[in-house]
Amino acid sequence: MEELTDKQLSGFRQSLIQVREELHLALDISEESGETVTLDQSKVGRLSRMDALQQQEMSNACRTGYRKRLLAVEQALLALDQGDYGWCESCGELIDIRRLEVRPESSLCVACQEASEI
Ligand SMILES: [Zn+2]
Repeated sequence: MEELTDKQLSGFRQSLIQVREELHLALDISEESGETVTLDQSKVGRLSRMDALQQQEMSNACRTGYRKRLLAVEQALLALDQGDYGWCESCGELIDIRRLEVRPESSLCVACQEASEI
């Protein structure tokens, strides 16, 4: 079985660090906009207030997604430090590199990911 080269691993580390920073930024920004919705509630009309609440719900959903992804990114960085990055958590096979290029925080191979979503 083919293993990841040091060059590939350091490339994934760079991507993971970048994704982590983007997620940190995204989480800060959506937390601020959540506060704005609460503060402006008395000033806006019924319709726009509903819009604002809907937006807040959406940003809450996004935030949960971002937090989940952030956790996966942290775990992937930890796995990189421990030298076991790129192996499927479930079946122990090497995860497809094209999958890692799209989502460097993946901890499951395609087959196990699909099985876990059913
Ligand atoms: Zn697997």
